[in-house]
Amino acid sequence: MKIEVAKTSGFCFGVNRAINKVQELLDKGKSVCTLGEIIHNKQMVEKLSKSGVRIINTPDEAEKGDIIVIRSHGVPLAVKEEISRLGFECCDATCPFVSKIHNIVSKASEKNIPVIIAGDKNHPEVQGIMGHCKSNVFTFKNQIELEELVKNTKNLYNEEVWLVVQTTFDVSAFKNYLKTIKKVYTNVKIFDTICSATTDRQEEANILSKQSDVMIVIGGKNSSNTTKLYNICKNNCKQTYLIETADELNLDVAVLKKAACIGITAGASTPAIIIKEVFNTMKEILNENEQSFEELLEESLKSMNSDDKVHGVVARITPNAVYVEVEGRKQSGFIPLDELSADPNAKAEDIVKVGDELDLLIMRTNDQEGTIMLSKKRVDANKGWDIISEALQNKEVLTGIVTDVIKGGIIAVTNAIRVFIPASQATVNKGETLESLLKKEVKFHIIEVNRAKRKAVGSIRSVAKEQKKEIMAKFWETAEIGKKYTGKVKSLTSYGAFVDIGGIDGMIHISELSWTKIKHPSEVVNVGDTVEVYIKSFDAEKGKISLGYKKDEDKPWEVLKREYPVGTVAEVQIVSLTSFGAFARILPTIDGLIHISQISDHRIEKPQDVLSVGDKVKAKITAIDFEKKKISLSIRALLVNDEETQKTVTDETTEKTAE
Ligand code: SF4
Repeated sequence: MKIEVAKTSGFCFGVNRAINKVQELLDKGKSVCTLGEIIHNKQMVEKLSKSGVRIINTPDEAEKGDIIVIRSHGVPLAVKEEISRLGFECCDATCPFVSKIHNIVSKASEKNIPVIIAGDKNHPEVQGIMGHCKSNVFTFKNQIELEELVKNTKNLYNEEVWLVVQTTFDVSAFKNYLKTIKKVYTNVKIFDTICSATTDRQEEANILSKQSDVMIVIGGKNSSNTTKLYNICKNNCKQTYLIETADELNLDVAVLKKAACIGITAGASTPAIIIKEVFNTMKEILNENEQSFEELLEESLKSMNSDDKVHGVVARITPNAVYVEVEGRKQSGFIPLDELSADPNAKAEDIVKVGDELDLLIMRTNDQEGTIMLSKKRVDANKGWDIISEALQNKEVLTGIVTDVIKGGIIAVTNAIRVFIPASQATVNKGETLESLLKKEVKFHIIEVNRAKRKAVGSIRSVAKEQKKEIMAKFWETAEIGKKYTGKVKSLTSYGAFVDIGGIDGMIHISELSWTKIKHPSEVVNVGDTVEVYIKSFDAEKGKISLGYKKDEDKPWEVLKREYPVGTVAEVQIVSLTSFGAFARILPTIDGLIHISQISDHRIEKPQDVLSVGDKVKAKITAIDFEKKKISLSIRALLVNDEETQKTVTDETTEKTAE
């Protein structure tokens, strides 16, 4: 099978010149806006927009300090005058071939000679030409419009008329129309202003598409010259596809494999790198022998002189570009910021420093201006795809920085490759948002690579899962009942608290949280608390760990023994009243008795005369029987400070309690 790239594919002289002019202004730090899209190529327009280039429709949309760039199509004279009247600086990137037409029609105007333009009156180039005509001007773009013109201009049949042609007009169609023109307008002066780049491109596309079973035409869908190329190819080759980038190369592999020859051509606004990407994608789709394709690719692109690898040393860093001295080249090299790294947020000075040696790819050369536009990003990406493919095979963990949150996931850049991580594979912890990952370093596995479509998919979750597996394995190796851990409370449920004890979760059952009955774990612990726990039991097979939390020393009777010896004055709460006294709570689950004789310093009929359930009072602990779990309390002892009285009281109380 043969794959052939048309030699004239890609940027024409005029487009190259316009792009270089814009780039130069950016490099000088100027504020740049273009009157309309600089070229009919979405990707290039987006790229320039990222560097700060704005698109305006009329000069009055420009802002103070802007330089207005006139694109290669040119503009009507009145627009230039308007720019100057508004006081804006103008960078005229009108292609010299278009300017030549402006000059022709201006001369015709001076002599008041009517002008016919073979071209589309809605195309900016034709509008620009019309805007230079002061005499009568007529247009036609096809047979129907030509017939209409002939019908309406009978008065011109024998008059002097000048005819010019839109630079990208269909060469063979124009030849056909000429027969009619010459026959009707007997005094016509013809200026064949079709650009040689267009002629060559169309002629080559015509020959190539006749030889090819499949034709790929690359270019902007709104580009006039690309559309013409497509029409020419489609006439000769039924399987002709118009695409803007390699991502749209969604062809039937069976059809491709049957083809003896696949032809590729591209419009004047198509960057060489996109053509190369299409070529690489074809290689992947067809799964052909890599070397033969590489050789073919190199051979086919040689004539474009724009895809060589070079070695350079960083000489200067500016906000918009990195300037490089290229080994073996006289031209000065520069890397635009968006060709430096795949991370759109990265700053040049964080990536390279003066003196760094770099492998670079030539994107575009401009011999007239002596510059070479270079890309570091694409060389890195080439290596990056190898690394990523290996990582997929070896299940390696890669590290990347999250640069974007997009619909359905995030983008993490690693080794100059943008890896898509779907939302379902991006977050590990509950409540974690995609936005919280932005600009953070993340570790992930590659789970899918399609180099042809430049698609790489990753999973953070699978790394986390693997890490958890390792932690679990280590944990089970060393786990034993009673082993203590310091953990963090992760969540609470009605039946317990889940605690992270170092990458693995265990549960403290609600009954294990306190020696007393509680209604909810939050009465004892809260999410985020650091807690000391120990393993009560575990089931390695089911992966379940039960944790203990409450300690013997926290048992209420132990606390009492430690902190409430006889003689202690405690604040207690009355919990019940009987005929012989009042029971009061000292600690949860521990009540003591205040005998009726110990409630007051004078005789009372019944406890209710002085106390009510719920009252909080101060009472002295006068006796504790640990064996029988009985405690005597006295309010009176605090009122009658007489040792003898207290002793008597204690004896009485103990006796009554025992009853
Ligand atoms: S196609 Fe020809 S006329 Fe048009 S911009 Fe390119 S070089 Fe100039």
